[in-house]
Amino acid sequence: MGIPELAEARILITGGAGFIGSHLADAAVAAGARVRILDNLATGLESNLDHLQGRIEWQRGDLRDLEACRRAVDQTTFVFHQGALGSVPRSLEDPATSIAVNVGGTTNLFMACRDAGVRRIVYASSSSVYGDHPGLPKEEGREGNPLSPYALSKSMCEQLCESFTRSFGLEIVGLRYFNVYGPRQRPDGPYAAVIPRFFDAYREGRAPKIFGDGEQSRDFTFVADAVHANLLAAGAPAESCGRAYNVAAGRRTTLNELVREIRSLMGGTAEAVHEPERAGDVRHSLADLRQVEAGIGYRPRFDLAEGLRITAESYGRDSAGRS
Ligand code: NAD
Repeated sequence: MGIPELAEARILITGGAGFIGSHLADAAVAAGARVRILDNLATGLESNLDHLQGRIEWQRGDLRDLEACRRAVDQTTFVFHQGALGSVPRSLEDPATSIAVNVGGTTNLFMACRDAGVRRIVYASSSSVYGDHPGLPKEEGREGNPLSPYALSKSMCEQLCESFTRSFGLEIVGLRYFNVYGPRQRPDGPYAAVIPRFFDAYREGRAPKIFGDGEQSRDFTFVADAVHANLLAAGAPAESCGRAYNVAAGRRTTLNELVREIRSLMGGTAEAVHEPERAGDVRHSLADLRQVEAGIGYRPRFDLAEGLRITAESYGRDSAGRS
């Protein structure tokens, strides 16, 4: 995995102490890059990077602080921008903070990158930008209205990418992740994603909770595929800049199917408990992967069974995903 330009390159990963960012740090270090992390630990964990101690440069700082962004991008060639406040429910609870971090923080970072002459930024967007558009599969260029402040923030950031590319010639590629899962994803707290919540419930012998009838579907993407897409985007032709591409497995799974797979992997017995649907959630999600394959050469390499098996193995290990 990797692109030749990354070897020896200085790179910044914002949100590098988080779930996806820490896997990206592993891949970048393995590729021979000199890695710096900017994270304020709002949702990330320093322990996600313990195993990389001495091989990364750690800067604790906030994207909302322009000077922190300037220090973080100093001398860097590539920036992988993962730092954000995720979760639709969190953004419905406190829209101001989600917008301030995701949009304000991204604007600061892009300004700092422009002034420091960064060569390329890869930005973590989200399938939530498809909003209320009923089309399936979801194809770039057919977006609806955002259904939550989180979705709005990601959509605004995509416009920032386009605008900074057009106005300043800054090279930015957006990646619309579809429900990423894997080792180190946090199962705790009110805003945890569905896969770690299901694993955690079966690990503790509890019944998992499904919001709605469970027939809603998602395109679940293994974290190694998201990481691979980032590396490809860093080395993709300049024509891919100012655009955002789907990153997914290209297969749709209902929550009822998902819970059955995880129950069997964890040897659980409890049936899921159903609770009322949550506001802001879309009903079905599935990515069209034609544009991302043509644009950056991305194809998924992990199917759900393989990704869930690796994730199940990581349970019972420490938080860095090591035995
Ligand atoms: P995560 O919460 O594990 O990682 C986000 C990281 O950003 C955390 O380490 C957090 O501490 C850091 N952060 C938050 N606010 C910050 C701030 N003000 N300054 C500096 N750092 C800050 O989440 P993740 O799942 O790894 O998500 C990474 C990115 O991918 C996010 O931009 C998220 O919106 C996007 N995304 C994730 C998914 C998914 O399914 N996990 C889907 C679509 C998009």
